[in-house]
Amino acid sequence: MSSDIRKLKKKLTKIFNEFIRVRDQKLQGGKCISCNNLGTQAGHYYSTSQCPQPSMIFNEKNVNLQCAHCNCWLHGSIQDYSVALNKKWGYNVVEELAVQRTFKQNPWTRFEYEVMIKEYTKKLAELKMQPAGVVNEMPKSKSGSSAHGGRVVERQRIVRPRNGKKNA
Ligand SMILES: [Zn+2]
Repeated sequence: MSSDIRKLKKKLTKIFNEFIRVRDQKLQGGKCISCNNLGTQAGHYYSTSQCPQPSMIFNEKNVNLQCAHCNCWLHGSIQDYSVALNKKWGYNVVEELAVQRTFKQNPWTRFEYEVMIKEYTKKLAELKMQPAGVVNEMPKSKSGSSAHGGRVVERQRIVRPRNGKKNA
């Protein structure tokens, strides 16, 4: 990895992890996904050493707010993490991630990192503008969705029946 790419990866990591922390202040009430203590870190379900491909490292469902204890000492407290993960995302996301992790992927180029940095800078700013305590669906993502397996559509489908009632 060139030093140029390494710098971009570092920058994206900083922005992406902050996005996760701010998002889960809302989605998890600031608590660790594994043990419910105060969450302070962006913890990977599939760790960056297990799954070094960028689409897993920067995957919104693979990364959730955790406490330092669970993240660093309990190997992500994986049992509790997997139960909470399915609960949080509303369908069998553990299985989905298990499939996604098998996908081969070329290393990201400078362009891909730059696109993602732009995307998450925007998403983070949007998230910070929402009133505190509002729990809603993720901000809609265009370029981000392809990098995360394109599952944004699936989330919208889950929400739809509620809208359907209004029209009935
Ligand atoms: Zn914890």
